[in-house]
Amino acid sequence: MKDALIIFDTTLRDGEQSPGASMTRDEKLRIARQLERMRVDVIEAGFAAASNGDFESVRSIAEAIKESTVCSLARANENDIRRAGEAIRPAARGRIHTFIATSPIHMEKKLRMTPDQVVEQAVKAIGWAREYTDDIEFSAEDAGRSEIDFLCRIFDAVIKAGAKTINVPDTVGYNVPEQYAATLRTLIERVPNADKVIWSVHCHNDLGLAVSNSLAAVMAGARQVECTINGLGERAGNASLEEIVMAVRTRADVFPVSTNIDTTQIVPASKLVSQITGYPVQPNKAIVGANAFAHESGIHQDGVLKHRETYEIMRAEDVGWGANKLVLGKHSGRNAFRARLQELGIEIGSEEQLNHAFARFKELADKKHEIFDEDLHALMSDEAVTPEQEHFRLVATRFHSETGETPRAEVTLAIGGQETRSQAEGSGPVDAAFKAIESVAGSGSELLLYSVNAITTGTDAQGEVTVRLAKDGRVVNGQGADTDIIVASAKAYLNALNKLCGGSEKLNPQV
Ligand SMILES: [Zn+2]
Repeated sequence: MKDALIIFDTTLRDGEQSPGASMTRDEKLRIARQLERMRVDVIEAGFAAASNGDFESVRSIAEAIKESTVCSLARANENDIRRAGEAIRPAARGRIHTFIATSPIHMEKKLRMTPDQVVEQAVKAIGWAREYTDDIEFSAEDAGRSEIDFLCRIFDAVIKAGAKTINVPDTVGYNVPEQYAATLRTLIERVPNADKVIWSVHCHNDLGLAVSNSLAAVMAGARQVECTINGLGERAGNASLEEIVMAVRTRADVFPVSTNIDTTQIVPASKLVSQITGYPVQPNKAIVGANAFAHESGIHQDGVLKHRETYEIMRAEDVGWGANKLVLGKHSGRNAFRARLQELGIEIGSEEQLNHAFARFKELADKKHEIFDEDLHALMSDEAVTPEQEHFRLVATRFHSETGETPRAEVTLAIGGQETRSQAEGSGPVDAAFKAIESVAGSGSELLLYSVNAITTGTDAQGEVTVRLAKDGRVVNGQGADTDIIVASAKAYLNALNKLCGGSEKLNPQV
């Protein structure tokens, strides 16, 4: 019997800290439902004390999720912990994850606390958390650069206080596998009652070693890995869930552990997270990249056809490739549409919302005869920003592009309910459309990124556009989907403008 390896997904917390990847409550719920379907053990739903919006998101997920443990992050202070405790209260199983920095540089420069004060604060934090749950995780922030003697001391103290999971994050992605594994081994040997707790790792990918470090730590005794879908996360990201899970499964001969994950849900989860956050997956990304299972070279193809194991160590269908069957078409009715949305975990608020979404679906089905799950997700993401909430809304567009002539765009926008028309020339129709919008919106923001992806295959596929804008240090991603990529581009630009004019900056803890 192998040990269980606990998969702790932090896509909704650490992943959300990627520039512009912030998600709405409904988007987080959709991802949480997919994580539950994938049988993730722990879902870190957010950082409840960051803002009221974050609190509501964590609480909604705690209410909706039944199978996975729902966790909120909290700094080691009373207010953060009480907010986290309240947010996870409705959960079938709730966890509070509290943290404090333990490296000399962080204690001195950031916290301005002595090591004694840091230990005392950590113990107090566990005490507050125990008023809400027995499932308490403690993280030593920047453990990767902390002194081992001090780590032993603080872990001993928090275990005595009631922490059940001890996390050793490599917050800045500085560690290398052998050394990180040695750190875990030493801690497990030296900390009293180490066998009474679960040892956890949380690795960042600044040197491209997040997965390697996590797996090395598993060999040294770690039994929880914190990771994200597609490796999303602060800077270069976190250890990617799909790589950890598939490494442990494919090399069951090497690893002394097994996970509870339904691997066939991996690709759908990857696509959903990519679509919602606007972070495309690179084609050569392990497991979930478009080329991960494609054998282009003639020699390889021949080998695969003769005997698949010559070049394939995993089967594409085991991770959920090819699972996107044709789901709906032009003649699908309202009930079929509603049923499929429910299966996808997409919540529909009211009958009116359903009617509106169904009308949009019919329009799309007229243009594009086969509708896949990805199309429905894109359609519903588009729907999520209801007209009343939008400050900027696209009413109509007209583009002119002809060889040898300057492209022109004419757009009609509703700004705060008031219709305005503008036109502009540009180097291409997209550039012209953005200039026309900006001439009336006057946001003064800077365009950081523009990308187009086809949601499904075929030239009739919907184009999904991501536009990243920055203004006064804030970064937002806007998305738009349409079978016409210029329209999708205009929608994405307006979506980003709407995000810039609403919402506010929030705390991003570095764990
Ligand atoms: Zn992190």
